[in-house]
Amino acid sequence: MRRGKREERQEYLKNRENARAFIERKSEEFNKFYGYKINRISIRNQRTRWGSCSKKGNLNFNYRLILLPERLADYVIVHEICHLGEFNHSSKFWALVERTIPDYRERRQILKKIRTNML
Ligand SMILES: [Zn+2]
Repeated sequence: MRRGKREERQEYLKNRENARAFIERKSEEFNKFYGYKINRISIRNQRTRWGSCSKKGNLNFNYRLILLPERLADYVIVHEICHLGEFNHSSKFWALVERTIPDYRERRQILKKIRTNML
């Protein structure tokens, strides 16, 4: 049963700053390896996406990342960081992801199921 809009909003506001701290720390950590220029990180309340990346170098993340097992959150963060290097889902892009998340395929599969259940 879906919760009310107001409750959902409160849940978002309650978790947003924790999510920001966690995601910023992780992004910094992983980006030490990649060395891209991250313009801005935004924390959002989205129903269908875990993250996205804009051509301007802005990364957007769903605050619900902090509710996921850490290894899945790591995968989402690395995925978006790698779009700063490859703005597509080519084999070059996945090779970048693989550099820090060697088992990204497995994590991606698990995440797909969670995404569907969340809706
Ligand atoms: Zn992507």
